[in-house]
Amino acid sequence: MLCLMQLKTDLYIDGKWVKGNGSVPVYDPSDGSVIAEIQTAGEKECDAAVEAAYRAFPEWAKTAPRYRAEILRKAFEIMVAEADFLAELVSKENGKVITDAKGEILYAAEFFRWFSEETVRVQGDFRKSPSGDKRILVTHQPIGVSLLITPWNFPAGMATRKIGPAIAAGCTVILKPAIETPLTAMAIIDILERAGVPKGVVNLVTPTPAGPMVSRMLHDARVMNLSFTGSTEVGRVLIKEAADRVIRCSMELGGNAPFVVLDDANIDEAVKGLMLAKMRNGGAACTAANRIYVHKKIAAEFTTKFAKAMSELKMAPGREAGAQLGASVSIKERDKIAQLVELSVKGGAKVETGGVMPEGPGAFYPPTVLTVDKSNEILKYEVFGPVAPIVTFETDDEAIALANDSDFGLISYVY
Ligand code: NAP
Repeated sequence: MLCLMQLKTDLYIDGKWVKGNGSVPVYDPSDGSVIAEIQTAGEKECDAAVEAAYRAFPEWAKTAPRYRAEILRKAFEIMVAEADFLAELVSKENGKVITDAKGEILYAAEFFRWFSEETVRVQGDFRKSPSGDKRILVTHQPIGVSLLITPWNFPAGMATRKIGPAIAAGCTVILKPAIETPLTAMAIIDILERAGVPKGVVNLVTPTPAGPMVSRMLHDARVMNLSFTGSTEVGRVLIKEAADRVIRCSMELGGNAPFVVLDDANIDEAVKGLMLAKMRNGGAACTAANRIYVHKKIAAEFTTKFAKAMSELKMAPGREAGAQLGASVSIKERDKIAQLVELSVKGGAKVETGGVMPEGPGAFYPPTVLTVDKSNEILKYEVFGPVAPIVTFETDDEAIALANDSDFGLISYVY
């Protein structure tokens, strides 16, 4: 059982849990109840986090790789030992089902283990110059203070995937988690503290709205690196912000994956594959199959079987026994999904299953299958939820052209 007393809800700056400039509630999206009030960060707190990370950097960068590796290893071990508690927390603030949440925690912990192993294997390069009279030596150095910004869909996995490599390399960090799911990030920082991370090396701030404070930190000469995972729209803004000081940035942005089923596919296997590719994490994954292209010859059978599998999923609060689809992270996100389905139906989509929001509390949207024309608007957007629009095609060339008809290029599936 999740013990609310265990939750950290403050900012973490310079090795201390501190109050900020106010507070905001964190909701359980499956019933709208408030789980906790977290502290928010203003200019003073964001500046203090930058200062703490900046001051801690020289010493941390000089530590022995083995020392950093052992802290990360310890953090991995604590995360695994506390996986049930953490999974409940993820499920509670994000809405996802407990099996997905547990899977995420173990996946997230692996980043700490992997980077604890990589810490002691940072490689370089040594060459002779083409003229033969010089030696060229390449060594990797920690870049400095890194600002890490994470989304709500994998609140644990995205945090450890960024913190792990940064502190392994000897960088210091400021984590800014999504405002809907800050508690998991706070729990991870707490684990790092218990694993022995020195003060100032990791810091956590939760400014809201995010834009002005992130911009302030990106324009601070002490911040050297930005790592962002989130929507393409926000990523585009941040690349521009990072360009002002020409700082290094890594971007993991949106996706709109095609899922192609050819005429000789094993239909049952393809349906099983699509259930995984579409419904992992309730459809809220950048890798989720979003545009389903099925050969005309098998489209009717495939659609019937897939719609049946979708309609049989149990939609329920994430921690309820047998739940297979939990709530979306918020009413706002749920409404975005509903609006895209509405847009699609207006454009001629036929609803094969789902499409009707349930009565009652919670940000639930049912598993929905649509059959649509290849020009339907829904295909242009990343639907971050349990909605699968199916389009038919007649030739392989047409399937390839349709699959590539997107600005996104993250992943694709073929059966
Ligand atoms: P989002 O709205 O872009 O938010 C992501 C993060 O950016 C949050 O921490 C958010 O803070 C912050 N943010 C929002 N506006 C900002 C601004 N103007 N300046 C600075 N920071 C800002 O994305 P999301 O809805 O949380 O996540 C879903 C998106 O993430 C999808 O597009 C998905 O495909 C993508 N994603 C990609 C990958 C990948 O590996 N490629 C993995 C996971 C998710 P607040 O929460 O405080 O607004």
